[in-house]
Amino acid sequence: KMQGASGREEKILVLVRLRPLSEKEIESNEVADWECINDTTILYRNTLREGSTFPNAYTFDTVFRGDCSTRQVYEEGTREIALSVVSGINSSIFAYGQTSSGKTYTMNGITEYTVAEIFDYIHRHEERAFVVKFSAIEIYNEAVRDLLSTDNTPLRLLDDPDRGTIVEKLTEETLRDWSHLKELLSICEAQRQIGETSLNEKSSRSHQIIRLGIESSAREFLGKDNSTTLAASVSFIDLAGSERASQALSAGARLKEGCHINRSLLTLGTVIRKLSKGRQGHINYRDSKLTRILQPSLGGNARTAIICTLSPARSHVEQTRNTLLFACCAK
Ligand code: ADP
Ligand code: MG
Repeated sequence: KMQGASGREEKILVLVRLRPLSEKEIESNEVADWECINDTTILYRNTLREGSTFPNAYTFDTVFRGDCSTRQVYEEGTREIALSVVSGINSSIFAYGQTSSGKTYTMNGITEYTVAEIFDYIHRHEERAFVVKFSAIEIYNEAVRDLLSTDNTPLRLLDDPDRGTIVEKLTEETLRDWSHLKELLSICEAQRQIGETSLNEKSSRSHQIIRLGIESSAREFLGKDNSTTLAASVSFIDLAGSERASQALSAGARLKEGCHINRSLLTLGTVIRKLSKGRQGHINYRDSKLTRILQPSLGGNARTAIICTLSPARSHVEQTRNTLLFACCAK
């Protein structure tokens, strides 16, 4: 197991969030076959399929039922990990799941709650001077684009001897407050839709990474040689729909696209599995853009949470099981 800065054992926090059936699903007589029977166990109940060879109960650090709010997921799940950024510890929070399972719904809320609390923390610690930087990228077809720029040219990744992999020419905005965040997020959302018929079309095939970089130093030492600066980042990753990983294995019109998404998702899966087993041997961060960019936020002293989002619908059972298998491998 990984050893954290404090010497305690670190592992990847795996959370599962089941969404409720949507109104549309209820109208079309969809059935919910999944149920969280306590805070750690999710159960598949389909009497029509009794005797199936799949396991029906899955246990995780925490499972969130359909009636849990995103605030609850934030507070009981990712809060501590996200806020470690103010003490100089890198972290990353992922949403993994099939399209329409609730990744964006969950990530947007968590990003907003985190930023609100970071500003709260900054106001309560006036002895330190803080700078919060916001940046946002999309990885689509293994091409990296700046979601704060109208220039659609793919950005290059560079290897910096001090900072590791960096995205060249990426826009970084100094974040003023929570309403500034809302403004930037809506720019990103508009930027994401370019060239696609619908946001859902694109978001099912691309990864979005929102990164907050936070630097702070004690005011009494500002500008002096003995000033110590803390710098770290927290990344919020809204992954491409996990169905893309399995679909990509079959040939078709979108093979190229599928292959690349497959590569990023599969590489992430391999990296996460290795990390969860305790980092033995080489970790293949360099095999995809996603893992290259996120390397400083994965492993080492960095803290990681993965929220696996699930649809309860009977018709989605296959993808739900795939997501749970991924989640099991990550914990
Ligand atoms: P994804 O990003 O995984 O494709 P979305 O986040 O867009 O999925 O969610 C699909 C739909 O379900 C959206 O209309 C969203 O508002 C709704 N939804 C998702 N999760 C929940 C939830 N936990 N509670 C209520 N509605 C949800
Ligand atoms: Mg989405």
